[in-house]
Amino acid sequence: MTTNLTPPPPAPVLVRGGSLYGEERTDVLLVGGLIQEIGPDLTAPEGTEIIDAEGCVVLPGLVDLHTHLREPGGEESETVETGTRAAARGGFTAVHAMANTTPVADTAGVVEQVARAGDSAGWCTVRPVGAVTVGLAGERLAELDAMASSRARVRVFSDDGKCVHDPVLMRRALEYVKAFDGVIAQHAQDPRLTEGAQMHEGVVSAELGLTGWPAVAEESIIARDVLLAQHVGSRLHVCHLSTAGSVDIVRWAKQRGIAVTAEVTPHHLLLTDEEVRGFDARYKVNPPLRTQADVDAVRQGLADGTIDIVATDHAPHLRDAKDREWDQAAMGMTGLETALPIVQHTMVDTGALSWRDVARVLSETPALIARDEDHGRALEPGSPAHLLVWDPRPRRAVDVAEHASRSANSPYIGLELPGMNRLTVHAGRVTVRDGALVER
Ligand SMILES: [Zn+2]
Repeated sequence: MTTNLTPPPPAPVLVRGGSLYGEERTDVLLVGGLIQEIGPDLTAPEGTEIIDAEGCVVLPGLVDLHTHLREPGGEESETVETGTRAAARGGFTAVHAMANTTPVADTAGVVEQVARAGDSAGWCTVRPVGAVTVGLAGERLAELDAMASSRARVRVFSDDGKCVHDPVLMRRALEYVKAFDGVIAQHAQDPRLTEGAQMHEGVVSAELGLTGWPAVAEESIIARDVLLAQHVGSRLHVCHLSTAGSVDIVRWAKQRGIAVTAEVTPHHLLLTDEEVRGFDARYKVNPPLRTQADVDAVRQGLADGTIDIVATDHAPHLRDAKDREWDQAAMGMTGLETALPIVQHTMVDTGALSWRDVARVLSETPALIARDEDHGRALEPGSPAHLLVWDPRPRRAVDVAEHASRSANSPYIGLELPGMNRLTVHAGRVTVRDGALVER
């Protein structure tokens, strides 16, 4: 007798009458992990699960380029299992796990461990991000080639949480990843200009008497890095861009043909430094919440394509790390389970983006930047069955008790937001139905 641990193949799924990319109304039939057919009034094979998607938008599964899963080393705040459950609830079918774990993901061994944990959790694809420098110490390059050629096939490298500040190291990293079409994702923050910084430097920081975090600390690094990327002919990705000046620099670089891409987080599309007045540490984040003029500029940059993608920077923290005086509290917010509601609220419901644009900024382009050929694919027969059915109509208050993340440091608790996840499908398997996780 043999033991077979392979799960049975998922049953076919027929998504009936949804609006493909928010456009034409059609049916989508998923069979054997692939999109088999798209068209009106499809017939379903025996045993098919039928989803009534009238009034819903059908999108490719979302792809997050910037997720902190905290494993290994930070399992009290999140694990690969809980973080990918949160991802599935948010409509994601792939996440990129940042390298600032303990130990740091700076070797083939650690990135393979993270990828394996993702495979065995099975809620979405986990693609590890490799550290640029050993131990994120900013002193010497990590084994980028070994991580790229490992089974985890790392293509995105980042010291996120820290900036690769040394221009010589940054240049070498950009040169190095060209060999395997990798990309350096920079957390743009001049460490000297932000020593002791507690919030955005401006009117509010002056009134509150908190040490400010000037916009130029971000902008000066981005300006340097786009020039370095141009000089060596390599790909640069700017993490969580947050200021109007940063948008201008990226726009300038793109006009010159420099291979730069940029991301904005949902929270920088919505919240401003005015939130800090209450000293509620849920609003403490890196980079800090900026001004309304910055929010307007990053929305405009996302709308006109200067900013390529939305990435969550999901950063779970223990209650103990957040329930402190402002200056002692950890920086970061959870974000996987609220990303699409925030994007719908700030960009779609305002007319700045269409649902087809949402597919681009939250699925297709993040997958392209990460050179992930399995995700962010066009919704057409033959593509992998990574799918999201989103109902944009319901509105409800954010309740972290419903969240799958192990941490509760959401800045949106109690805020009424639009949209509801009707269905997430990862590789043909239904992971979420009507907002609830579907256990295997
Ligand atoms: Zn960061």
